Amino acid sequence: EEYTRRKLSEKKEKTLGMIKPDGVEKLGQILDEIYKRGFLLTRLRMCCLDRNQAFRFYEEHRDKPFFNALIDYITSGPIIVFEIVNTNAVDNWREAIGPTDPSRARTVAPTSIRAQYGIDVTRNVVHGSDSAASAVRELEFFFPSSGPMLPNTSKGGNCTCCL
Ligand code: UDP
Repeated sequence: EEYTRRKLSEKKEKTLGMIKPDGVEKLGQILDEIYKRGFLLTRLRMCCLDRNQAFRFYEEHRDKPFFNALIDYITSGPIIVFEIVNTNAVDNWREAIGPTDPSRARTVAPTSIRAQYGIDVTRNVVHGSDSAASAVRELEFFFPSSGPMLPNTSKGGNCTCCL
């Protein structure tokens, strides 16, 4: 009965996770971190963003000083995106990845993914939606409920990083 009550009070959520270009180079280790924590991945794909797609995905940051560096980085190689379904998926995944800056992460969250594998504040290996509303938008971006999906890695034709 307690189990049932707990199940009913659990809030199942979805979030968008991403392994960024530097993370793809450490794919086995990052996937291991994901599975070690018991996250359930319900959809997953690899793709490349061209600059226009990257602008759209990160449009909320377009006026930030780091925007160009971010766009250069995220278009520099293939990325892997996935849907996580979990209790409090948004917060749990954000906690697993840790703070934006890996050097800060190494101080305040040393077991987080960014602390262990991040290079610097731009090349921080993983992404996670920052709210339930962002998760809906970002999942729709990569896994649209209607219309075409972004092309895959090597055959899409608009990817420069894999040619
Ligand atoms: N970023 C950067 N310089 C900064 C802050 C952020 O290059 O000073 C990059 C980094 O890759 C980060 C992304 O921009 O993951 C989005 O920034 P945000 O503040 O939303 O951090 P996040 O939610 O990813 O932790």
